[in-house]
Amino acid sequence: MKNPAPRRVVIKLGTGVLTSGIGQLDTARIAAIAAEIEALRRAGTEVIVVSSGAVGLGMGRLGLKKKPSELSRKQACAAIGQSLLMQTWQRAFDPHGLTVAQVLLTHEDLRARGRYLGVKDTLEKLIDYGTIPVINENDTVSAAEIKFGDNDTLSAMVASLVDAQHLVILSTAPGLIDMKGTGQIVPVVEKITPEIEAMAGGTTSETATGGMISKISAAKLATKAGCGVFIASGAEPEILARLFSGRSPGTFFVPSGLPMESKKRWLAYFQRPSGNILINDRAVPVLREQGRSLLAIGVTGVSGGFAAGDIVNILSPEGRILARGVSAFTDAEVRAAAGKSSEELKPLFPGRKRLEVVHRDNLVVL
Ligand code: GLU
Repeated sequence: MKNPAPRRVVIKLGTGVLTSGIGQLDTARIAAIAAEIEALRRAGTEVIVVSSGAVGLGMGRLGLKKKPSELSRKQACAAIGQSLLMQTWQRAFDPHGLTVAQVLLTHEDLRARGRYLGVKDTLEKLIDYGTIPVINENDTVSAAEIKFGDNDTLSAMVASLVDAQHLVILSTAPGLIDMKGTGQIVPVVEKITPEIEAMAGGTTSETATGGMISKISAAKLATKAGCGVFIASGAEPEILARLFSGRSPGTFFVPSGLPMESKKRWLAYFQRPSGNILINDRAVPVLREQGRSLLAIGVTGVSGGFAAGDIVNILSPEGRILARGVSAFTDAEVRAAAGKSSEELKPLFPGRKRLEVVHRDNLVVL
């Protein structure tokens, strides 16, 4: 039976799919992918592209064989390559009468709630206008602290932001390979367990960034948002048609049946926590199974510095990130409150009505 066309998809293309050699555009492949995207559109699917390749194309234009190690040189390559990248995409969609729209993002744009909602709104408008948004990280202005780091993460965040049904990550990797076991591609992953994560390795390519590790963590984020994720080779002919008709040659990650609501997703995955709150054994099930607030009595320690209202990691006694949430207290206040009962806290924080360290409405278990 033929699967119904998905409503909305995000397609991420790695540098290795768009180029052959260092920074040489593979125009035939790009044209084939554009034709496939057009076919999806005709079937009623809205498509958002996340395209890498700016740094690689910049390197190609400059004749560089190695990625520069200096950040400002990489940023310069991205500035040179990004405009070439957009020209390439527009040319590829011209025969289909489609217009592309460049959207460049930094992590900051999705961290602040107001800007996050603004980006979402603009993407909706671009889709309304019938264009194909082509998103990349704004590498030229992205310093380490405002970077997504890789476009796999960026594509998963975009998929979550626009409530996409599917995220397709096309790279030179044919899928997730079970190196320790069968040596074959894992066709379906129901749940991303530590065993699945152990199957991934980094990248060794000159132009690529993430490797399988970042793809799996992207899949984790997107599946929690209720989005099914394909990881497959962009070199395969008719790859999109095959994926969406269920003849997937890659790996499919099943979306979570109980996706997190949008605000909690933003809290869980779009932030860089400024500190950690450590909790004791008794507090673990209170948060994890009972979904209650974190009280000072369950806190054993603090690390990092944060203000009230900042986002923090909540760590289990073994140091594992258990949850993420908005701390109602500063780091110094949490340190002073650690281990105390609500009765003991009252005189320490006179006039304060709420004494939960992290209220359950502002807390998400990971
Ligand atoms: N934003 C980078 C580029 O356009 C690619 C990062 C990635 O592929 O993960 O070159």
